[in-house]
Amino acid sequence: MSDLNETQLAALKLLLQEHRQQLRADIRDELLRKDSEQYGELAGQVHDAGEESVADMLVELNAAVLGQSIRTLREVEAAQQRLAEGHYGRCVDCDEPIPFERLRVYPSATRCLVHQEAFEQGA
Ligand SMILES: [Zn+2]
Repeated sequence: MSDLNETQLAALKLLLQEHRQQLRADIRDELLRKDSEQYGELAGQVHDAGEESVADMLVELNAAVLGQSIRTLREVEAAQQRLAEGHYGRCVDCDEPIPFERLRVYPSATRCLVHQEAFEQGA
């Protein structure tokens, strides 16, 4: 586990839940805008998903339609999974705890700042 305390973990858990809810609403709205029976049905499923993985549900969907939202949702759901399994908040590259200040602005982060920058530069 990371060096996050219970209060910090609870706050991050809430942030992830809110973020996921927002993404689900965005995806549903986007699907409803598509104005087709198929997407309308899907939008209802996204809305009713509860604790199920919405990202998994949307796998069949053409990624181009909602690509960015689905990718972000996938990150958020993966972070929730790590939280549930008790290995949330560590850098995937160096295994050091990711600082709370970073997680607070980016709760689905998988890398510390040093390795995120290296990753984005393709190193
Ligand atoms: Zn790192």
